[in-house]
Amino acid sequence: MSLLLESIRQSKPHLYRAFSLVEHGEQHLQRISELDKYWEQLKQPVQRVIFPSSDLPADTVISGEYDLVYAGGTLSLLHAAVMAGKYGRKVMIFDRQRPAKSTRDWNISRYELLRLSALGLLTEAEIDSVIVRQYKNGWVEFYQHDGRQKRLVMDNVLDCAVDTDKLLGLVQEKIEAVPGSEILAGYTFLRCYQFDDHIVVKMVDRQGRLLYCKTRVLVDVMGILSPVAMQLNHGRPHTHLCPTVGTVASGFEDVDFDTGEILATTRPADITPGKGRQLIWEGFPAEGTKYITYLFFYDEADSLNDKSLLSLFETYFETLSEYKKPGKNFVLHRPVYGIIPAYCHDGFVRTREVADDHIILFGDAASLGSPLTFCGFGSMVRNLHHLTADLETALCDNKLTKQHLEKINAYEPNVASMANLMKYMCFNNSTDEPNFVNDLMNEVMHVLDDLPQRYRQAMFRDEMKIEELALVMLRVAWRYPKVVTATWEKLGVQGSLGFFKNLAGWALSSVR
Ligand SMILES: Cc1cc2nc3c(=O)[nH]c(=O)nc-3n(C[C@H](O)[C@H](O)[C@H](O)COP(=O)(O)OP(=O)(O)OC[C@H]3O[C@@H](n4cnc5c(N)ncnc54)[C@H](O)[C@@H]3O)c2cc1C
Repeated sequence: MSLLLESIRQSKPHLYRAFSLVEHGEQHLQRISELDKYWEQLKQPVQRVIFPSSDLPADTVISGEYDLVYAGGTLSLLHAAVMAGKYGRKVMIFDRQRPAKSTRDWNISRYELLRLSALGLLTEAEIDSVIVRQYKNGWVEFYQHDGRQKRLVMDNVLDCAVDTDKLLGLVQEKIEAVPGSEILAGYTFLRCYQFDDHIVVKMVDRQGRLLYCKTRVLVDVMGILSPVAMQLNHGRPHTHLCPTVGTVASGFEDVDFDTGEILATTRPADITPGKGRQLIWEGFPAEGTKYITYLFFYDEADSLNDKSLLSLFETYFETLSEYKKPGKNFVLHRPVYGIIPAYCHDGFVRTREVADDHIILFGDAASLGSPLTFCGFGSMVRNLHHLTADLETALCDNKLTKQHLEKINAYEPNVASMANLMKYMCFNNSTDEPNFVNDLMNEVMHVLDDLPQRYRQAMFRDEMKIEELALVMLRVAWRYPKVVTATWEKLGVQGSLGFFKNLAGWALSSVR
């Protein structure tokens, strides 16, 4: 029995029982604990990891030279595969864990995935080989006391379950097939040193051996824990977060394998002091008899609520049967988890720092995806074409300063505006009635149900147009006037102004 597992026996008995049975339970606990360190990091002074060239010891031995070094081995692989395969760039990817092994599975629509074949990254046959199930449709539903909640059904939204590790494995093979490319496991990013025309990255392996390499650009794809994002954003890399836990399991009673349950609540908010949160479930059929369930909630980064993944996992195992009932043959295959980042930009355009001289941030490290839809992978797929082509141009033109690199990002004005809606999903114990989030969202479901299907598809695929959002908001305010007071309480003057600026930036972007 591992020490880590033993340490939770008393405090988290449900989690203890489940993880004692799961394969690699201890490794998962370690990764979860690693992610939970994020909450402590927010309270600590910002650790400096970007240094000037003068701080690099003169006797440093450089062991490799690359065009691009990627710190973090998940979404980085998609980008690196294009840079190596299409543009012939010499790339190196390292991860402190095993690259191409994720702690989650992804849902997306096939039509979005096909962008990867348009880019020449995967063939259509390869794309189909990683889709382990396609559903007929999906729905969203928010709890009402009288059972009269509106179930909003939609087609072609998050309707393909992707085997994440298989997809990343395929891409990894493509990178390894390009001579000169390297992928390293078990290397942790420590710091970097900025020179005028390059950057030196310092890493450490599991035995404590240091490694230095030289690159024209360091691509930070270290996800939510990125120390680079932490430094560049002065210790406030996110405004909101969405702790998420779940499992891939089989043997539930009454599961519909043809339908995705995109968002579902089963009760009002948890109003326990220190835990004010509206818990939300998701259920996605996966390969064969496997079924993925997630439990999550939206919250402000600086709220006092307990946001630890370990605690949320305890709640998950305690309450799972309220959402999906495990049957006689229930088997838990593996846990899935993470912290989904969100950043509300206080401006007409992007305000989060996503680059520095010879440094660029992508994926969750950049935090430009929509927390509303959960789709960090989707955001990378949508933006991969220009994130690769623009970086290639910058490399060719040798324009690798912050001023140039920060223009290469996945900021989308519509996504930035939509992120404000997430604030209404953050339950606040001091201002909200326990069923506030459900009541409001139930009205949104009614409004969307009255509108043509493309409105709901656009909303859940991050493709909404400004006039569509305006119409939805007006109709919600008409049906549910309480939203006006809620806007005041949830957004305040500063937040409302921020939302307005985002909307104005969005409106202007479409005429630019
Ligand atoms: C439970 C869950 C379900 C999701 N479902 C979907 C979905 O259905 N559709 C969708 O589009 N998106 C989904 N997402 C979002 C998506 O998974 C993320 O946006 C995506 O994984 C981000 O990838 P990333 O490479 O930026 O970061 P990560 O996936 O977090 O990868 C970062 C990597 O960096 C490594 N790393 C961290 N620190 C260091 C260091 N100091 N040195 C070296 N390596 C380091 C880590 O080990 C890790 O491998 C989901 C997220 C979660 C949590």
